Amino acid sequence: MKNVLLAFFAMILIGCNSNAQKKQSSQTPQYKVSKTEAEWKSELTPAQFTVLRKAGTERPFSSDLNKIKEPGTFVCAACGNELYLTKHKFESGTGWPSFDRPLEGAVAYGADSKLGFERDEVHCADCGGHLGHLFDDGPRETTGKRHCINGVAMKFIPDGKK
Ligand SMILES: [Zn+2]
Repeated sequence: MKNVLLAFFAMILIGCNSNAQKKQSSQTPQYKVSKTEAEWKSELTPAQFTVLRKAGTERPFSSDLNKIKEPGTFVCAACGNELYLTKHKFESGTGWPSFDRPLEGAVAYGADSKLGFERDEVHCADCGGHLGHLFDDGPRETTGKRHCINGVAMKFIPDGKK
C-alpha cells in the first residue's frame, strides 16, 4: 500500500512539475552559492546542516525567531541571502516563523535539487538551502500564503544593523 501511495505521489509530482523541470534544465543547474557537503558541514551548526542541507524540520516553538516583531530582515543562515521581512511575518500558531510573502526572487520552490525537494518545498534561491514549506492557508486579507520556515535556517538582522 505504501508503495502504491508513493508511486501515486510521484506521478502527481511529475505531472505538476514537468513544465518547471523543462525550464530549469535549460538553465544552469548550479546555485549562485555552491559548496560541497563537507564545506557546508564545517560552516553550519549541526542543526542548521540538518535543516538546510538535509531538508530536516526543527521542533516547533524551538526557534527564538518565532518571537521577533521588531522591524528587520530574515536572511539565509547559510549564505546571507535576504529572504523575508518582519512586516510580512504573522502569528500562525504553528510554532514556526511564518510569512505571507518572501522578498522578490529570494526563494524558489519545489523539485530541482539533489536534496530531493517536494512540490511545496521552499528553498533559498541563492544556495539551494532548504528553508521550509509553502501552504495556502495564510492570511486571507493579504496573500493567502503561509511560508512556514525553520527558524534555524535563518538569521535575523534588525533594521539599521546591516
Ligand atoms: Zn542561502
